[in-house]
Amino acid sequence: MKGLLTKDYFYDAEKAREYLEKMRWSNGVVCPHCGSLEAYKLEAKDGSKNPVRNGVYKCKSCRKQFTVTVGTIFEDSHIALNKWLMAIQLLCSSKKGMSAHQLHRMLGVTYKSAWFMAHRIRYAMTQPPVVGKLQGIVEADETYIGGKAHGKRGRGAENKTPVFALVERGGKVRTFKTKTVTAKNLQEKIRENVDKKAIVMTDEFLAYKGLDAEFEHHTVNHGAGEYVNGNDYTNTAEGFFSLLKRGINGVYHHVSEQHLDRYLAEFGFRYDNRKVDDAVRCGLTLGQTEGKRLTYKVHSEV
Ligand SMILES: [Zn+2]
Repeated sequence: MKGLLTKDYFYDAEKAREYLEKMRWSNGVVCPHCGSLEAYKLEAKDGSKNPVRNGVYKCKSCRKQFTVTVGTIFEDSHIALNKWLMAIQLLCSSKKGMSAHQLHRMLGVTYKSAWFMAHRIRYAMTQPPVVGKLQGIVEADETYIGGKAHGKRGRGAENKTPVFALVERGGKVRTFKTKTVTAKNLQEKIRENVDKKAIVMTDEFLAYKGLDAEFEHHTVNHGAGEYVNGNDYTNTAEGFFSLLKRGINGVYHHVSEQHLDRYLAEFGFRYDNRKVDDAVRCGLTLGQTEGKRLTYKVHSEV
């Protein structure tokens, strides 16, 4: 963690606002209400008794006022913006994520606030609607998250939620929470997300049977102790799952099925952006905070 939080905008709300303005409006101020580029900063008039809040702009077109947080996950939050930036930095740079307990201690906010902040940040990390399909070699695999720690393991385990992943070797991951792992469910996801010219790698699980009618499909026979056969393996997907499980079991301890999608988004986001440094990953998250105002029934608590 050393050197991670050295910037002044992590400690000063005013500096944090200026930093967010610079990131969000790098090509000039944009009105979040109407999209106009004609806006000006409100300044207190000489001798005026009414002070103007810092960072308030007024649009020349629609005449509405706004600040840089309007239309972002930070809107309406009573948590200081510098603490938000700190939380984003911490979540972007911790490989296995960071618990609400640790955020609560590091940020000096209540546990409840820390939990909702992390939840909103995960929401920002959610991949934008998918464009284009996965290419090259794509590994497909499923795993089970949650449930009893010592219950039955593997496929069909009780109280566990199946998660299906498609990992482009050397590229991006797409994860899906599913109700059941059936040939219909898994193959539908493959068809929707994988390019017809890609090579699909799976293990010998029956749900993948028949894929070779549509794709070049290679399998490794885990049941027979085979894990790597030349270029045929699913170790990349297993590596992603291993990190996901270490995070969910070791850091978050318990993740309800209801919120699992958000955690998948968090781990997927860090995986997809694993080749850039923490500062860039943090900037990418900030870029995705727009248009994601959470209309959460308890959002006013944060
Ligand atoms: Zn406007």
